[in-house]
Amino acid sequence: MRTLLNNCRIINPYGEIPFLDNGSILIENGIIKKLGLLDSSIQVDETVDLAGKTVLPGMINAHAHLYSALAVGMPFPTGNPTNFTEVLEQVWWILDLALDKDSTRASYESGLIDHLRHGVTTVIDHHSSQSFINGSLQLLAETAEKLGVNISGAFEMTDRNGEKTFQESLNENISFHRSFDQSNNIRPLIGLHASFTLSDESLQAISDVLKVESHWGIHIHTAEDKADQLDAVSRGYKSTLDRLNHFGLLNENSLVIHGIHFVEEDLKIAKDTGAMLVHNPSSNANNRVGMTPNETIQQLKSGLGTDGMQGNMLAEAKEGTLIRSGHLAGGAASVNYAELLFKNNPEIATKLFGRKIGKLDPGYAADLVIFDYIPRTEFNGNNWIGHTLFGMEKPSDVMTNGIFRIRNNEFIGFNEKDLIKNAENQSQQLWQKMEKI
Ligand SMILES: [Zn+2]
Repeated sequence: MRTLLNNCRIINPYGEIPFLDNGSILIENGIIKKLGLLDSSIQVDETVDLAGKTVLPGMINAHAHLYSALAVGMPFPTGNPTNFTEVLEQVWWILDLALDKDSTRASYESGLIDHLRHGVTTVIDHHSSQSFINGSLQLLAETAEKLGVNISGAFEMTDRNGEKTFQESLNENISFHRSFDQSNNIRPLIGLHASFTLSDESLQAISDVLKVESHWGIHIHTAEDKADQLDAVSRGYKSTLDRLNHFGLLNENSLVIHGIHFVEEDLKIAKDTGAMLVHNPSSNANNRVGMTPNETIQQLKSGLGTDGMQGNMLAEAKEGTLIRSGHLAGGAASVNYAELLFKNNPEIATKLFGRKIGKLDPGYAADLVIFDYIPRTEFNGNNWIGHTLFGMEKPSDVMTNGIFRIRNNEFIGFNEKDLIKNAENQSQQLWQKMEKI
């Protein structure tokens, strides 16, 4: 199957041809074959005239929590949490206990719709539904396949709901890993909630099980709050990553999330093991847990995630830029969030999925998003960051692996309104259930 997209402005940040005002993209069997000024007499099965629309690579959310998709508009906790641990106890650890199979499915569907609507075609999810464990990652894989999103799944293991729940979560991670390790569009990771909610015995149990598996990587929150570092130190370790490394849990397939309170030892261990950092600015601001230092982000070539706050990566990059600016003196160096989104995230996804994702270069997956964007100022290869973060909003068309999932603002293959209506019904039941926990 060969498709030719004609007459489009191409933005391919950090790619071989980074900007082209008017060009074409040739797609063959779900992979980008060529881009540039192509001969329009080329033999193809389908030609699409994009009439001057702007094409960007499909974006990647390097740390998502689809399970929190039904939290939008949820009542505030009555206890007025005053620190990070209290936020977890009064909000998220109640939500993840209340989720059952139907509300989890509705969370996945509505959360993935939100991502696709904003041009995000690969989601690296960190899942928690503590009362619905067995089969929850299989359901995630099925839902992502149905909607056409590349998905990474992991179940958050924790000690906080007892030994039986921990063991069931470990089994779910391992069974998902074994079922989907060779899959093209689904990438299993081993999910851990955080160091401070897992005992040494639990970390040892995870380590023992992983010894006989291959190609695994963990996905875990690290040093999001000072409490996580203090906990590791109180148990006799130098830091959070020192503790995880002690149990042999870090490798080049691992994702360590946040790293706000990383110390020198953590930076060294992340570099030595190849573990990848993901920064989530809007969530960090919302939880008031501090701001990841510029040096940590730069040294570890951090990716960008939303930590369940939203499915809109352009907004996350813009908000990250603004949040950081609010803490900096005039003239001080900041972080280039476009680089996190369009350079570091593709490197993370490419490494995890074992195939090229996140650019429009030949050989990459044909995941692309098309904006019907009419710039009111000059648009060129030097100012694309300004246009993408401050000008563009929702794409009109989205393609993953060479197949249109949204065409002229309409989803293809399912009825969006039905799924959103179901999510609304499920959210009402979920919120009522949360009040009783
Ligand atoms: Zn998270």
